[in-house]
Amino acid sequence: MSIGGLLPAQIIKLKRDGQVVPSQVIKEWIHAYAQDRVTDYQMAAFLMAVYWRGLSDIELKTFIEAMMDSGETLTWKNHPHFLVDKHSTGGVGDKTSLIVGPLVAAAGLSVPMMAGRGLGHTGGTIDKLEAIPGFRTNIDLKEFDRLVRNFNLGFTAQTLQICPADRKLYALRDVTATVDSIPLVCGSIMSKKLAEGIQGLVLDVKFGSGAFFKSIERAKELGLALKAVGERFGKKMVIMLSTMDQPLGRFAGNSLEVKECLEIMQGEVFRNAAGEDLYSDTRDLSIALSAQMMLLSDRWSTLNEATKAATEILSSGKAYKKFEEICREQGGDLSKLATPKFSQVVRAPSAGTIASFDVEGLGYLNVKLGAGRAEVVDKLDFAAGLEFHGKIGTHVSAGDPLFTLYASTEEQLKFASQDLARFVSISTDSVKKPDLIFSVIQ
Ligand code: URA
Repeated sequence: MSIGGLLPAQIIKLKRDGQVVPSQVIKEWIHAYAQDRVTDYQMAAFLMAVYWRGLSDIELKTFIEAMMDSGETLTWKNHPHFLVDKHSTGGVGDKTSLIVGPLVAAAGLSVPMMAGRGLGHTGGTIDKLEAIPGFRTNIDLKEFDRLVRNFNLGFTAQTLQICPADRKLYALRDVTATVDSIPLVCGSIMSKKLAEGIQGLVLDVKFGSGAFFKSIERAKELGLALKAVGERFGKKMVIMLSTMDQPLGRFAGNSLEVKECLEIMQGEVFRNAAGEDLYSDTRDLSIALSAQMMLLSDRWSTLNEATKAATEILSSGKAYKKFEEICREQGGDLSKLATPKFSQVVRAPSAGTIASFDVEGLGYLNVKLGAGRAEVVDKLDFAAGLEFHGKIGTHVSAGDPLFTLYASTEEQLKFASQDLARFVSISTDSVKKPDLIFSVIQ
């Protein structure tokens, strides 16, 4: 098998040795992989070479175009509404797409949302939606078009029709430690988003212990790279840098996160023993992202106005109604969310203030519980997950609950339950709460 006159091992070697891979070769290589003509083990080796060597600007552009062109690109000729989407670079408990999509659709903009599954230690929107029994995420283009035209919103995974290359590469990166690479993240996110045919995109770029890129500097580098790609393709782009130094909201885990979003969209708050609303960060970030998306459409002239409108749509229940509507259309039954049978509470060993979380560790703990995949073929336990009882800055007494593990089987719970105290640190010093949003790059 030869690609642009080269054997797969020669292409891998070029990248491994830090040389530029010719554009035509990158194109054929990606297309051949999407069509199952390149093996997973050869592509995994290539991804690892990219991880270490990176891609030049021209290689990255060709890589993104090849991923996009592996399937169809949506065009929305004469579509009456501004087409906009949001995507996150990944986190733990990061569930805002489930609120942002319906909220912005209820505001009158169109959101054709192509999302992914869990990646590494992070959760994925598609897994969360599939936790709603019956919810179809593998929909064809005709149906996706119908949903967006009629309801301003549709959720789809990468399919055999749209971004099939990312569909395969994403699953492969998940299990081969090749997620946290700026060109690979750029290629994955931007090929999906460009294939959606949107006009504007807001990216929630995470930094902190649960992000793929821990430091604010690397997150900023990723954000600027994503922005440059989007603008090169004529999209209006906004980058929001937000913290992943603690899990977002109250839950991490598929059904549990859906429950949190439904409750937020129904106007509920959830207070812990210290009286803090554990839904506030999920709610605030969802509103902030939605407002930026709405502002891109030019229908609102200031961020204040857009934020006010987004807050009203959420608190009035309009976002909830839209979510119910799209669940019905995509086959989901919200009354039948899985609930976990087994749980274990992890308690504070001493009194003090929660000072930090090992968020990546908690994400992998969630994978061990069955909420994520260790291998491509793994089936998820939708009921599995974690509940957090406090945030950085919460005061606790010895014996107070810090977090709870949930699973559907006792074996799974036992398998995950080792050395649990190390995930949260308690301090007797005063602790500064991290800002939810660090900065916004317009
Ligand atoms: N989200 C994606 O779609 N791809 C990545 O690589 C990371 C986050």
